[in-house]
Amino acid sequence: MASVPRIELNSGTTIPQLGFGVFQIPPEDTQEIVEQALEIGYRHIDTAAAYRNEMGVGQAIEASGPSRDDVFVTTKLWNDDQGSAPARTALEASLDRLGMDHVDLYLIHWPAPPKDKFVETWETFQELKIEGRARAIGVSNFRVEDLERLTVETDIVPAVNQIELHPELQQSELRAYHLSQGIVTEAWSPIAQGEVLGSETVCEIAEAHGKTPAQAILRWHIQLGNIVFPKSVTPERIRANFELFDFELTHEQMAAFESIDAGNRTGPDPATFVTP
Ligand code: NDP
Repeated sequence: MASVPRIELNSGTTIPQLGFGVFQIPPEDTQEIVEQALEIGYRHIDTAAAYRNEMGVGQAIEASGPSRDDVFVTTKLWNDDQGSAPARTALEASLDRLGMDHVDLYLIHWPAPPKDKFVETWETFQELKIEGRARAIGVSNFRVEDLERLTVETDIVPAVNQIELHPELQQSELRAYHLSQGIVTEAWSPIAQGEVLGSETVCEIAEAHGKTPAQAILRWHIQLGNIVFPKSVTPERIRANFELFDFELTHEQMAAFESIDAGNRTGPDPATFVTP
């Protein structure tokens, strides 16, 4: 079984660089699909309260071979639950659904700037970490200005920022800022939900390695140092997305990827997104 590199977080814990995302997996199918992923070797699952499938994630881990301590579990606080008291209640509800006494990483799902509650929420996240309910805390969809507010107003640096990131949206400025602050970059929609798989550059690079376009893109993320957790409900894709550690992109191929950047978002704009 391939050995997935682990990345150190500012909490002192480590996270497997490759995981499995469960956004849009129907709650009733989640246990079975996550069990397949665990069987293949994934040891990092990325869920969220908003995905409504935390229960299936917890059931899969409970029913599978690896112990709870061997699986890194991330969940996220939904926008409606921002604020000190609601955030506490929301994490307890997530832990109940997961059937766990802690998560490995708890994220503020969106900054929702018009609400202006993420700083207060972040202070509560620090308390939840000290209480041991979340081993590490981080954010998602934060812009540089949102991250700067956290540092200036609370002095607590997020372990990660989980952002939309794929070949057509490479987020160079935000990644450089993360690097300067010791924040690890997590890439959501790492293959842009399939939209970048037809790129000629990607297809050529994939072919040169005898790999699929999805594998070439995921390998590009790994070599950039991003954490990735592709989602799939298709057994052969779940397996293929885990086979990233038996080839390496050359310097020239990494540079060719850079030329695909187009600033194309597939998801909402973090500056304005509050709730669906
Ligand atoms: P992905 O970029 O992972 O793409 C998933 C889509 O690509 C699915 O339609 C899947 O199809 C298809 N696919 C997966 N593997 C392959 C493959 N090898 N070849 C061809 N097609 C493939 O998108 P997601 O949006 O799901 O992002 C991944 C994870 O990121 C989420 O599950 C979630 O954990 C996280 N996320 C976080 C967000 C945030 O706001 N923090 C927002 C969005 C996602 P199929 O399933 O039919 O096989």
